[in-house]
Amino acid sequence: MTDFSQFVPAHIRSLGGYTPGKSPRQAQRESRVSCIKMASNENPWGPSPKAVAAMQAVLSDCNFYPDNDAGDLRDALAKRHGVQPGQILLTAGSTSLLGIIARTLLSPGLNAVTSERSFIVYPIATQAAGGQLIQVPMRRDSFDLDAVAAAVDGNTRIIYLSNPNNPTGTIVDIAALDQFLDKLPGQVIVILDEAYYDFARHFAAQRNVDYSHSLKYVNQGRKVVVLRTFSKTHGLAGVRVGYGIGPAELMSYFARMRTTFSVSAPAQAAALAALKDEAHVQKALVNNAEQAERLTESLREMGYEVAPTWANFLYCELGEDAAAVSQRLQAEGVIIRPLGPWGAPTAIRVTIGTPEQNGIFLAAFKKVTERSMVK
Ligand SMILES: *Cc1c(COP(=O)(O)O)cnc(C)c1O
Repeated sequence: MTDFSQFVPAHIRSLGGYTPGKSPRQAQRESRVSCIKMASNENPWGPSPKAVAAMQAVLSDCNFYPDNDAGDLRDALAKRHGVQPGQILLTAGSTSLLGIIARTLLSPGLNAVTSERSFIVYPIATQAAGGQLIQVPMRRDSFDLDAVAAAVDGNTRIIYLSNPNNPTGTIVDIAALDQFLDKLPGQVIVILDEAYYDFARHFAAQRNVDYSHSLKYVNQGRKVVVLRTFSKTHGLAGVRVGYGIGPAELMSYFARMRTTFSVSAPAQAAALAALKDEAHVQKALVNNAEQAERLTESLREMGYEVAPTWANFLYCELGEDAAAVSQRLQAEGVIIRPLGPWGAPTAIRVTIGTPEQNGIFLAAFKKVTERSMVK
């Protein structure tokens, strides 16, 4: 028999795969109860009905390839963000762009720097490109910008900064980030991953906090690429559309590395319609803020530590094996994320759902943790 591993370079052989949140179908098969998914930070209200109608309207033209540049969508986003269309690149989700960025800027001998307990795609994208990922410790469940800056060396090309951070839900201090960017050496490009931008901005308005200067950085011509997605607030995770905003020349290199026609025609139509349906986004944001408070308070009343969230999920330290608790929760019909793969085996991440879903989660959580306390 052929040993195919000899065909594959060492940095690819040692790649760990991405472990996605369990689908309700798979969980139902395993646990034989109907399950709700609170594991992947999706929009619990579904996509905008206008996005669904827009997809339906283009389906019968799907014999044609899509617009490779997603021109209409790109123009609409450029207008929305006050940048030139050439500064925006649409991809099949922003995780796809993370891979493109790593393959464009990294090669063996070069590295990227990020924090531990951050987005699980950063290690995969970096290693697949042959680069090395340096992960520095956190400070109070948050990116430690001083530690990140200290880890940068002459071979560093990328810094990944998830703001808010997935899975801890924290944001970085904006003044600290401004200073951090001022001090960075010239050969480093900062990837400012703002997948949860809308949620954070909503919380920031409530809490009277200045959250992000990301577009200002781009307009100042800094070496920053901002990542946004339609997967979270817009409820379009299944159609795969996200984008980056950055220096036009850099974005044109990324564009060459993108798989041709990777953003499908239904995805482009859906995103364009979703962008215009602000009421749908607003509904998700208002519910999220209310329910974040409810879930945080309820978990704290049960004696758990919960980091204040800036996103659509909670990070909760359980003080016991999170995988076991998750398994028991699944038996009660709730799928959440145990954070062992992030190096936090006693913590969970729970996506904030509808009021009804959160009620089901709280009841189930109470039941399965009471059982573990009796033990
Ligand atoms: C969800 C998420 C993304 C976006 O994923 P898509 O590929 O656009 O679905 C990017 N970064 C972080 C940190 C995320 O949590």
